[in-house]
Amino acid sequence: MRIGAHISAAGGVFKAFERAADIGCETMLLFTKSNRQWKAKPLAAEDVTKFKAAQQKFTSVQPVAVHASYLINIASPDPVLWEKSYQALKVEVERAGLLDIPLITFHPGSHMEGTPQDGLARIAQGVERVLVETAESAPNTIVCLETMAGQGTNLGAKFEHLAYILGEVGHHPRAGVCFDTCHVFAAGYDLRTPEAYTTTMAEFDAVVGLEHLKVFHFNDSKFKLGQNKDRHAHIGEGFIGKQGFANFLNDPRWQKHAAHLETPKKEKVEDGNEIEMDPINLATLRELRTIN
Ligand SMILES: [Zn+2]
Ligand SMILES: [Zn+2]
Repeated sequence: MRIGAHISAAGGVFKAFERAADIGCETMLLFTKSNRQWKAKPLAAEDVTKFKAAQQKFTSVQPVAVHASYLINIASPDPVLWEKSYQALKVEVERAGLLDIPLITFHPGSHMEGTPQDGLARIAQGVERVLVETAESAPNTIVCLETMAGQGTNLGAKFEHLAYILGEVGHHPRAGVCFDTCHVFAAGYDLRTPEAYTTTMAEFDAVVGLEHLKVFHFNDSKFKLGQNKDRHAHIGEGFIGKQGFANFLNDPRWQKHAAHLETPKKEKVEDGNEIEMDPINLATLRELRTIN
């Protein structure tokens, strides 16, 4: 399995490669625009050229994945917000296509005051449209629905939600799932022991199909199983525990898959200084990985 982290693209998307390589990432996740703003300055030709050059140079950091803006909600019952979200998602997919990035993950969304089923139908409609409208601009980019923790009216916490959306888009080859360990655990699927892991993955296979699982987010959980709380803990320091991650890392089915940390970047130590946590979490994962 290829392990990496969410890396800052501050100062230009191409800069993320060097940062990722410096801390030993074998793959990386990034934002190609501000995640908390709707607007995005179009990528300049120079940015694209520099990114592609870095992609050629840093062959040790592959594949790259994008995380779309947190503002996007294509489950929204508000037609204005829905269209705004849809257009933002489309721009994100187009940017990934321009940069030759093979994976983009987005949060399926919240149904708000409507019913969950209506929300799921709206998500499916948005995914279908984005696949059609970016068929030429991002032909090699897979659009992944992230598994969610089930906070509030968030959809995507049940494997059935993801299965429904993928089914509605005809199991399109450019649609897939991003499996977030913290979120899946928070949603009530156990991953802690080899037996629990086997049961959960068998359920995912039966409901969604393992072939649709394209990429992982590796986060431990600050809350217990099934609490629907989306709070990421350092690897081995949460309620999933090290064995939970060893289950994925040593499963030969995921040998070519990428997994990205989205755990807190820094922690304070006794003397008041802060230490970088990604290298520590990466080292923990590397120790747990006994197959290559
Ligand atoms: Zn996410
Ligand atoms: Zn999360």
